[in-house]
Amino acid sequence: MAKLMDRLWNNIGDAKAFSLSFTNFAYMYDDYCVDDFYTIQCDGCKKSIQTRDYLFPRASCMKPTSILDTLEYGVSQELRDELISRFDVTDKDFRPIRSKRGEIVYYQITPQHIMLPISEENEWIPRTPCPCCGSIQYDEVKDFENENEEYYHYISQAALDDMHDFNVTFEKFRWHMPYYVISRRVYDFLTERYPRTHYEPFFLK
Ligand SMILES: [Zn+2]
Repeated sequence: MAKLMDRLWNNIGDAKAFSLSFTNFAYMYDDYCVDDFYTIQCDGCKKSIQTRDYLFPRASCMKPTSILDTLEYGVSQELRDELISRFDVTDKDFRPIRSKRGEIVYYQITPQHIMLPISEENEWIPRTPCPCCGSIQYDEVKDFENENEEYYHYISQAALDDMHDFNVTFEKFRWHMPYYVISRRVYDFLTERYPRTHYEPFFLK
């Protein structure tokens, strides 16, 4: 089967890393919302940390890869196990998602490795630091797009050399969310296995 990314890009072979951009949505239970799983750390900017495992119905978690309705990403137990066995990732790079009965039905992707800053390469502009906690959020003032209106980004050689197989960007954006970035070799494995999955490439600058 032709890979989706090969149809959208004529130079995808030059990409060095990829941010997750899965398009299949998985939804948590109707009677929960994301605030039920996070604890606010700063009243100024509402920065918060996840303090509970998510609760999702099993029926919403049937695909191998999904974007969660919390705007994070999830994978099946089988795929999570295979990624741990094949790549330089550990069980800390995933967090269980459970049904209300407590069974693990999916895994949230929670990369532990933070990339080196790449805001200059991407012209990401830091907002004024939060006066309470000092944390900084970035704005993407310039969207880089190819001729198919597909987004892409830039990475420095230093940041590429420092990357692991699963990463988050140093920079955080709206809602304090980072980009979730995978290595070229994880991308090659995933697109071979699941040809229709979608990503945003990073090219060297
Ligand atoms: Zn703050």
